[in-house]
Amino acid sequence: MKIAIYPGSFDPITNGHLSVIRRAAKLFDEVLVVVMINHKKPVGCFSYEERMELIKRCTKDIPNVKVDYYAGLLADYAREKDATAIVKGLRAVSDFEHEFQQALTNKELNPDVETVFVTAGADYMYLSSSIVKQVCQFGGDVSKFVPPEVYEDIVKGIKKKG
Ligand code: ADP
Repeated sequence: MKIAIYPGSFDPITNGHLSVIRRAAKLFDEVLVVVMINHKKPVGCFSYEERMELIKRCTKDIPNVKVDYYAGLLADYAREKDATAIVKGLRAVSDFEHEFQQALTNKELNPDVETVFVTAGADYMYLSSSIVKQVCQFGGDVSKFVPPEVYEDIVKGIKKKG
C-alpha cells in the first residue's frame, strides 16, 4: 500500500491545499494530511483541532484521505506510518528553494521516503493561508479562496482573532 503524507500548517485550509490533496489522492492509496505542530511558531489563527476539523469537513468525499497531527520530525512520522512519499505543493519558484532544502534534509533523515512535488490547479497558484487571512481581515471576499463547506467558519475564525 502506497501511503503519502501531505504536511503543512493549514491555518486555515485553502482551495490550493484542497487541489493538492485531490491530486495526491489519485496518485497514492492513502493520503495522510498532517497538521504539523510547531511549538516555536507563534500561535496561528486557528487551533490545531480547528484546523483538523476544517480539513476533515472538506475532504470527507475523498475516501482515501485521513487527517492527523504531529509534533515532531516529519522524517520520523514518515517512518512511523511506513510512508512512501511526502507530498509538497509548489506555487512559484519562490517556494522551490526552501522545499528543495527540506526534501534533501528529509531524504538524509529517512532515505526510504521520497518527496513528490505537486502543483495546485492554475487558478490557485497564487493562493496561501496568509493571503486568505489578510484579505478577510480587511473585509474582502474570500469565498473563491476556500472550500464552500468551511467558508463561514473560516471567516468567523479570522474575524474573531482580529
Ligand atoms: P501556506 O500557509 O503557505 O498556505 P502550508 O504550510 O499550510 O502553507 O502549506 C502546506 C503545503 O501546501 C506546502 O507544501 C505549500 O507549498 C503547499 N501549498 C499551499 N498553498 C498552495 C497552493 N496554492 N498551490 C500549491 N501548493 C500550495
